[in-house]
Formats: sequence, structure tokens, C-alpha cells
Amino acid sequence: MATVIDTLTARPRHPEKQNRPETPLLRKPEWLRVRAPGSAGYNETRDIVRSHGLTTVCEEAACPNIGECWTQKHATMMIMGEICTRACAFCNVITGKPNALDPTEPARVAEAVAMMGLKHVVITSVDRDDLEDGGAAHFAAVVHAIRAAAPGTTIEILTPDFLRKEGAAEVVIDSAPDVFNHNLETVPRLYLTIRPGARYYNSLRLLERVKDRDPRRFTKSGLMVGLGEAKEEVMQVMDDMRSAGVDFLTIGQYLQPTRKHAAVDRFVHPDEFAAYEAIARSKGFLMVSASPLTRSSHHAGEDFARLKAAREALDLAAQ
Ligand code: SF4
Repeated sequence: MATVIDTLTARPRHPEKQNRPETPLLRKPEWLRVRAPGSAGYNETRDIVRSHGLTTVCEEAACPNIGECWTQKHATMMIMGEICTRACAFCNVITGKPNALDPTEPARVAEAVAMMGLKHVVITSVDRDDLEDGGAAHFAAVVHAIRAAAPGTTIEILTPDFLRKEGAAEVVIDSAPDVFNHNLETVPRLYLTIRPGARYYNSLRLLERVKDRDPRRFTKSGLMVGLGEAKEEVMQVMDDMRSAGVDFLTIGQYLQPTRKHAAVDRFVHPDEFAAYEAIARSKGFLMVSASPLTRSSHHAGEDFARLKAAREALDLAAQ
């Protein structure tokens, strides 16, 4: 397979993966096929994204849901540039030395959110190990700018792990997003191969710190399956998340971006997702979304409404 070149930077997207052996791309089963994007709503979202110079994880991660989400004007903004300092084996975002932060970004993102009239927005970022605070202050500035420009919009953030960035997580937590999401991505046994720059217990502890600091803040985390994990390992991660107080769990099928990325071990059948969902609900998550095409930001607005309703029902029952 030819080297994958990024169209904007004209550089290989994954220079660190060039010497990896190529693995075959498995043919997708019926349940993972999606329609090609191209509706009027999709084009409108694309125009707003382009005219504000924004980066979206929808495009950078080659998300299969882009046609559906953008048609409904739901896009996940990726801040702090499109170049990541990590090189996770599952991720399609470019790895390299990132550019300096753009101080105009918080205002541009906030203006786009207001213009799109979003009820709920999801903001994520690349990992910025190169910055002293991991980009925490910039992340918080984006949350504050959205609050000011679009006070009716609820804000969900999907953050990096802020590994070895003392005090950074607290800055982001204190910006008071409605939902704090950090994905554990996979089971601890697979971290060294799938998420080599991260540490499972650091990520888990990050989620716990959100609750320590603000017990009413909603927390959310996600897992990809089909990477070679065992069912028992997934259930252990669910238990770990619950002990960290995580409210909302998402589970989706891992899809291999290129032949140089981690291979798909298997396509998990929709019935197995349904079983995971039932198990997770029995473990006490307020919300669970588990399906082949589930992504952390998929249907995030509707799911946030359900999450809030689930907590209200729990609060009522406790009175
Ligand atoms: S699921 Fe998330 S990343 Fe994928 S297209 Fe929808 S908003 Fe974008």
C-alpha cells in the first residue's frame, strides 16, 4: 500500500507507522455499511467548518457516521491543531510536531457553535504532550468562549489524558463543561500495543478526579471492541469505570483506518453489543450506548438529554 499522505500538509500522516507490517483490511459485514455523505445539511455543516477554519474529528478520524451526523448539523470540533504528539495504533489523526496554539481558536469555535445553533456540542483535541499544561488552559478557554457566545448550548468535552501534567486536569474540570468524557479506549492488557503513550490507571484516575472535584459533573468514557479483548476483560473495565463513578459508557466496533494500523481482530455481532449494554446497565451506569457504529460523540445531544433524565429519575427515587 502507498504511504498515506495528508492533503493539507503534504506529509505522511503516520510517519511512525511506515515500518510496521501491513495487515489485511477485513471486509466489513452488512451491519457496518453506511450511506455515502452528501445531503444539503451535510454540505451546510461542511461549509461552516471550512469557513471558520475548524478541524473536526469526524474527518480526521474518518468516522463512518459523518453523513448522518453532519446532515443533522452535529460535528465534533477538534481543537489545538490537527497534529498529535501521540501515535496510538488505532487512530487516524496525524502524528508529528504540532504547531503553536492559535489564540483566535476559542472565539472561532464559539462563533461556529452559535452559528450552527447547536443544542449540544462536543469538543475534543489532539494530545499536546509538547505543552507544559497539555493544552489545559486552551481547552478551558474554548469552553468559556462557547458559554459566552452560545449560553443555551450544553458542552461535552472529550479530553486527552494529561499524563504527567500536574494540575492540568483541574483547570479543565473547573471550566465546568456539562459532560467530561475521557475514553479508556481498550482493556489494560492491550494498552502497550494499542495506546502505548497512555497508562490505563492514569486514564481511570482522571475520570475519578472529575468526580472527586465535582460529584455532580457527568462523566463519560468509551471502549472500542474487536481489538482482541476478551469479554471478561471488558466487564472488568466496566467495573473499574463504575468504581471511578463514570455515568455513561459507550462501546463501538474498532475499524482499521489503514493497513499500517492495528488489525481488526473480529467484527463483534450486534447481539453481543446488546449483551454488553444489558450487562453495563446492570452494573449501574446511568446511560449506555453499545452498537457497532457507536462513537463517543454519536447522538451525543440526544444521549445527554437521556443522561440528565436518568439522573433526575434517580434523584427522585432517592427522596
Ligand atoms: S460520531 Fe462523532 S466523530 Fe463521528 S461523525 Fe458523528 S460527531 Fe463526528
